[in-house]
Amino acid sequence: MSLPPYSTRPTLRIDLAQIKANYDALKGLAPRAKVAAAVKADAYGLGVESVGRALYGAGCRIYFVATAGEGKLLREAIGPNGAIYVLNGPAPRDKAALLGAKLKPVINSIGQARYWAEIARETNEPPYTAIHIETGMNRLGMPAAEVAMLASDKALWRALHPEWIMSHLACASITNHPLNAEQLKTFKALSATLPPTPLSLANTAGAYLGKDYHFQMIRTGIGLYGGMATDKPGQEVSKPVVKLLAPILQLHEVKAGECIGYDATHIAKRDMRLATVGAGYADGVPISMSNVAHAVIHDEDVPIVGRVSMDLTIVDVTDLHMPVQVGGVVVFLGDRLEAQAKAAGTINYELLVRLGQRVRRDYWKPRNDKDKGAPETTATDSKSTGHKPSHRKPSGPRKPGGPRKPSGTRRPGGPRKPGGSRPQRSPGR
Ligand SMILES: *Cc1c(COP(=O)(O)O)cnc(C)c1O
Repeated sequence: MSLPPYSTRPTLRIDLAQIKANYDALKGLAPRAKVAAAVKADAYGLGVESVGRALYGAGCRIYFVATAGEGKLLREAIGPNGAIYVLNGPAPRDKAALLGAKLKPVINSIGQARYWAEIARETNEPPYTAIHIETGMNRLGMPAAEVAMLASDKALWRALHPEWIMSHLACASITNHPLNAEQLKTFKALSATLPPTPLSLANTAGAYLGKDYHFQMIRTGIGLYGGMATDKPGQEVSKPVVKLLAPILQLHEVKAGECIGYDATHIAKRDMRLATVGAGYADGVPISMSNVAHAVIHDEDVPIVGRVSMDLTIVDVTDLHMPVQVGGVVVFLGDRLEAQAKAAGTINYELLVRLGQRVRRDYWKPRNDKDKGAPETTATDSKSTGHKPSHRKPSGPRKPGGPRKPSGTRRPGGPRKPGGSRPQRSPGR
């Protein structure tokens, strides 16, 4: 018996054109503000190099990462011109990375302010900074007493060269939460005690709270990646950009009373047809989806039955209207991202950032709408499939020795691995 061309490796289909479209849509939401991109945690699991470049192509020139290592990778991807802010602040062991890659630390405390001022004074053309003030979340940011110290120390302020004063909303996704207005008020009052500087308060959800929250820059993350950010998802402007595609590896007919998966957590209540799918918790299908969440085949929901295992998930295909076969495609995330997150007891952000390293990243740049209907394949070697989309690009132009080549992510002199697989993660990621 012959098998259709498929690979056992799951694929993450990332629609870069839709990420750009989401960027534009969010810009439309806050037309007078700059739109910065939060690309921390490897661009929410989607790949900071490709996503960073796609956003740069969409006009984005301000980025936020969490750590200096993330910033370094992004710098290699986008070149010298975008501003990259490091949210978690300047730390002594990150000094070389910050200066080497021209990363701008977000200053979260008076201690960090004094530390960075010292470095700035002894450095030629030190990177400028953003000042993060605490307005009610109690996570990162200068509390009011430290803001007062900074306000009274003109030399310190000058040494830091702050380009932005920012804060972060705790409850922006809950439209009617009273803390939103309270934080807005505190933000205005505290920032007014510092020298006049452009302001930024809103993340994606905050942008939906209205123009009072936009100031001179919004900082969008989840909305770029197609995740719903608010308690009114129907009114949001972004669309899904990621699908996790996994192949059906085997089909089983089981009789009522038989058990399914590890620890026999599911006993068949009827005769069933099961599909064993090549993606598991190592790939980002959380174990908490076991017996509660659905995947999708041919646009129909299929229940996950039994416990998700490391490399495999079993779904119930008994009631499917379309025939299924080995090599067929099962879809996770996509427009079910929120439903799957909810079923799994987590949030869309976490489902995205936990996507596994084994998953092949397949970046799509459709040139026009008709390309969007291209068939879903799960082949790892695109050469071996009849569906190779002609517009598919490798994840980026990589001239050997060129400025964009991420150092240390590839074996020196070694050719790019066939099959479009990503280079190994470098230590800083
Ligand atoms: C992650 C982050 C953002 C982006 O948040 P989203 O909810 O993904 O839009 C903005 N600002 C700060 C400080 C962040 O940590």
